[in-house]
Amino acid sequence: MNLHEFQAKGLLRTYGVPVPDGGVASTASDALRVAKELKGEAWVLKVQVHAGGRGKAGGVKVVKSFSEVYDEATQMIGMKIVTKQTGPEGKIARRILVEQATDIKKEIYLSFLVDRDSEQCMIIASAEGGMEIEEVAKNNPTAVVKELINPVTGMGLFLGRKIAKGIGLDSSLLNKFADVAHKLYECFIDHDCMMLEINPLVVTGDGDILCLDAKMAVDENALYRHSKIEEMKDYGELEPQEVRASIFDLSYVSMDGNIGCMVNGAGLAMATMDIIKSFNGEPANFLDVGGGADVNKVREAFKIILTDPKVKVIFVNIFGGIVRCDLIAKGVLTASDEVPSDRHIVVRLDGTNVEEGRRILNEGAEKSGLNIVTCDTMADAAQKAVRLAAGEPLEEVKKSPTKSAARKGGAK
Ligand code: ADP
Ligand code: MG
Repeated sequence: MNLHEFQAKGLLRTYGVPVPDGGVASTASDALRVAKELKGEAWVLKVQVHAGGRGKAGGVKVVKSFSEVYDEATQMIGMKIVTKQTGPEGKIARRILVEQATDIKKEIYLSFLVDRDSEQCMIIASAEGGMEIEEVAKNNPTAVVKELINPVTGMGLFLGRKIAKGIGLDSSLLNKFADVAHKLYECFIDHDCMMLEINPLVVTGDGDILCLDAKMAVDENALYRHSKIEEMKDYGELEPQEVRASIFDLSYVSMDGNIGCMVNGAGLAMATMDIIKSFNGEPANFLDVGGGADVNKVREAFKIILTDPKVKVIFVNIFGGIVRCDLIAKGVLTASDEVPSDRHIVVRLDGTNVEEGRRILNEGAEKSGLNIVTCDTMADAAQKAVRLAAGEPLEEVKKSPTKSAARKGGAK
């Protein structure tokens, strides 16, 4: 789960990490009130969206008078921001952070993350702050310093000083840097973070260290023990389908194609997308109804898939284990009432009670005249789904799949 910059900075403050004074605003008059409370002569307005690269995209503005605060805030609140990380569709900024402007002498990059290879946490730093670390790593790899953090000793001050020296910080800053790094690590560990990135961490004109940006991602699987963090979840940052899916305990990720997939299990979801692609089709989503799928979940899954106007075919690919195929079949029939007549449903069921499931579907489809095609194998179903999505008649569907599809389809 991603946190907004203002939320992450709020947490960091409680750990004694130096961050600029500021407050969040959702209207221009709110922004003006915050700026007046902060005092000073210059402020920075920053759109709060779950994406970096805001500076380059006009989402970070320095202003020098109250009237500018008001005018810029009016422009920025509600603006659509498009950065490398938002994708071309961009994100709407509902709030801005109003901060005291900092006198920046030097920008540094600093982050903590979970390194899967070593199964340890890692600290990464670079003297080239303010830039994307991927770019720095590519163009100037020696400028990036990495160290694993021993889980027993943690982020000791010696390690912080070593990193500070490694990125060429002045000796007067070594202890200050080590102290901030230690506090950041404490916050990172206490909240089960996947990542905590400060880009930039700056050295101010007065020789202090300050975190100007904060990007924090908390492991979703640990949210059960961080109720305060869970309350910070911004549903406005999620797609409406993702929000609906989370209510019904479904995993949904939307994609660009026109074949909606409803499957059980992440492995089968991936195999389904693979086989669609091997027949030159494009999946419209990844939707996993999980192990405990029932009639209700199937209906919800259909509703969610159908909110995507690109979907031409719904491909139901269920392997009955704990979940019974006859229940899924009933769910599909109930849900199919809501499927417009120009959309098709292709169903491949296998596993527990498959014969009964197929019988229910075939009888139901015949009675109601629904566009349901039932298939015995994954390859056959995928091929038919691709054909129907392309508007081709099914009679012309070839019986034997391509080589790669046959290989994958062999899993049935
Ligand atoms: P993003 O990473 O989304 O572009 P940042 O928070 O890193 O957003 O801001 C971009 C740049 O704006 C920073 O590299 C810094 O130069 C400047 N900036 C951000 N916050 C402040 C601040 N409080 N005072 C002065 N400059 C700032
Ligand atoms: Mg940044």
